[in-house]
Amino acid sequence: MNQRPNSLHASDIAHSMHPYTNMRLHEEKGPMIMASGNGARVTDSDGKEYIEGLAGLWSVAVGFSETRLADAAYEQLKKLPYYHSFAHKAHEPSIRLAEKIVEMTPEGLNRVFFTNSGSEANDTVVKMVWFLNNGLGRPEKKKFLSRTKAYHGITIASGSLTGLAGNQKDFDLPAIPVTHLTCPHYWRYGEEGETEAEFTARLLKELEDTIIAEGPETIGAFIGEPVMGAGGVMTPPEGYWPGVVDICHKYDILVVSDEVINGFGRTGARFGCERYGFTPDILVSSKQLTSSYMPLAAIVVNDKVYNAIADNTAKLGNFGHGFTATGHPVSCAVGLENLKIIEEDDLMGNAKRLEPLFQDGLRAFADHPLVGEVRGVGLIAGLEMADKKTKQPIGKPGAVAAKVAALAAEEGLICRNVYDSVALCPPLIITEDDVKEIHARLGRALDRTL
Ligand code: PLP
Repeated sequence: MNQRPNSLHASDIAHSMHPYTNMRLHEEKGPMIMASGNGARVTDSDGKEYIEGLAGLWSVAVGFSETRLADAAYEQLKKLPYYHSFAHKAHEPSIRLAEKIVEMTPEGLNRVFFTNSGSEANDTVVKMVWFLNNGLGRPEKKKFLSRTKAYHGITIASGSLTGLAGNQKDFDLPAIPVTHLTCPHYWRYGEEGETEAEFTARLLKELEDTIIAEGPETIGAFIGEPVMGAGGVMTPPEGYWPGVVDICHKYDILVVSDEVINGFGRTGARFGCERYGFTPDILVSSKQLTSSYMPLAAIVVNDKVYNAIADNTAKLGNFGHGFTATGHPVSCAVGLENLKIIEEDDLMGNAKRLEPLFQDGLRAFADHPLVGEVRGVGLIAGLEMADKKTKQPIGKPGAVAAKVAALAAEEGLICRNVYDSVALCPPLIITEDDVKEIHARLGRALDRTL
């Protein structure tokens, strides 16, 4: 590692503050600086190449060297580098991308609002739910239902929806009214002797009991990731999602599908909600929307939500919400091109085709002494490092997963340790050979951790 006083490493240590980082440790350790990308691989500033097994942060669907996206950005920068969407203004990239998103998302989701990040999108969803319920004359219908271990972002409202202590401790969150229900992870939260169907029934009962106890007239929306991502990749039990939607709709509670990770093919279906057989009232997407080449998130809503919001804007004369870069033309041009590539190259089909190879190869590690559970769908998976019998972490919580991820990097595979799990989520362009290489490198890392 280059530690010369004028090196990038030294400059980073001297001047930067990193997200999700122990800053004092960083002062000693310094950064891993990524210098370039090619397909599913990235190369660091020391010239070492890695398979990017997490697609950056669950996001680079088309890989790290898609020149069509670079060209789309450059062309848009030359033509109209910036314009906004406030007060009846518009531009072609955001119009075309909204049209494309409506075409791709499930039937009934007809209107798009853009933000720059998933966190901003979920904050916007909170404000939309509050705004529409005020407009409908039911100002008390404001609470959100979420789940423990959910990840919905880190801003004040979205961080409150998140159900992870690490994002809340010392930030004084939750700061908005949110009830966190049981995480739908059967292996971890199923009781002794309880079947998966009984577990689902218990969680649905908890949901309905909570709604009744708190009063349906006080609850605005339920939010969830179809497959939970940053909390450790948890797939829901059979029947869970359709049951959640039925109960919420019975009490006039909106259902928000947070597909910031799940969207655009990640789960082996176009959207996680389609994989699990439900249609939300609001769908949130980001990350693979532009392959994260540019920051962008999209909230897609059904007519019921749109009409309630639109009616209130007519009453008030305005929707007093939006960002300078809402629907930024360069982000939207890149997003549109990215979705075209995903369709033309059938990258969602690739995820579905490679699912058995990817998942079966990982499930082969279920017998490994350090692995408690392997789970996943499509091209997203988590391996929980735990004692198989007690299901408790082996040693200090998080330590084994951190060591596996560090050794995997030495082996030339980037994955992410989240709590006690090791998460994998490779680019959708991944090949069969690289999937096998992921298995081989991860296997060596696991064996070296023993
Ligand atoms: N929602 C989900 C499901 C996410 O996974 C994330 C980020 O990982 C977010 C929201 C927040 O997105 P951002 O980091 O762009 O604010």
